[in-house]
Amino acid sequence: MKALLFTGPSGSGKTTIAQILLQRYDALTFSISATTRPPRPGEKHGQDYYFLTEAEFDEELASDGFLEWERLFSGYRYGTLKREISRIKSLGKIPVFVKDVKGALTLKRAFGEGLVTVFLVPPSIEALRERLVNRGLNTPEDLAERLARAEAELELLPLFDYALYNDDVNKAVARLDPLIQNKLL
Ligand code: 5GP
Repeated sequence: MKALLFTGPSGSGKTTIAQILLQRYDALTFSISATTRPPRPGEKHGQDYYFLTEAEFDEELASDGFLEWERLFSGYRYGTLKREISRIKSLGKIPVFVKDVKGALTLKRAFGEGLVTVFLVPPSIEALRERLVNRGLNTPEDLAERLARAEAELELLPLFDYALYNDDVNKAVARLDPLIQNKLL
């Protein structure tokens, strides 16, 4: 099964780039993750995430419902539900995954043939900090945790198929178009 995965540090622009591509290519569909994080303003259950309680997440774990999962910022859990991939398969679409770096590596191993992995490279740690601050959604502790993690994550870049330098969203998307057309469509 063909699929496209974006990973990279928090603030590297993976969600933004994925959203632009999802609008541009009908064949692609966002793979909705499950999380125990509460929704941010404007986020919708079943659209941005499946928002689960801790108990619901535990139940999914107990029934082997996840292909991968990670405990990330502020202790919240995030995971890829196996049945989300089945849902997308039954629609005949190509899933687009947006995952943290560790989860992306697990997914890469578990998914098998057909998965194209793209690591988004931010121009600098300073640029990451700026993007995260501008988002205005993170506590100082959460921000520090995301930046510390980013430094370690950048070292894992060689484990992915493509590195995409994200200095400018439009340029980054333009660099991706040939990849999508040649490898996925
Ligand atoms: P946020 O809380 O900002 O929405 O997401 C935090 C991080 O979790 C981001 O790096 C996002 O890509 C990652 N993430 C979202 N869904 C999943 C998932 O299903 N599994 C893993 N491992 N990471 C995820």
